[in-house]
Amino acid sequence: MNLFKRDEDKDIAKNADKTLVVKTSRCPQNHVCPSMRVCPVGALSQKGYKAPTVDKNKCIKCGKCVKFCPMRALALE
Ligand code: SF4
Repeated sequence: MNLFKRDEDKDIAKNADKTLVVKTSRCPQNHVCPSMRVCPVGALSQKGYKAPTVDKNKCIKCGKCVKFCPMRALALE
């Protein structure tokens, strides 16, 4: 558990100067976004089946949603 926590902290530090971007053209927009469930701070939201939007004030840039989206529609860049 401690090891996991440290890895998570490393990811957050690594992504500090990046921004979470939603690549709407990669999102099929026909399902509930699975990445919303893995966000630890509730920064992702979705209207209907549209591509999710990010609350940049909440996002801690952990990268969990980026790793989870099978369509690679979320990116930290
Ligand atoms: S990078 Fe982390 S905090 Fe930001 S939206 Fe994705 S899962 Fe949530």
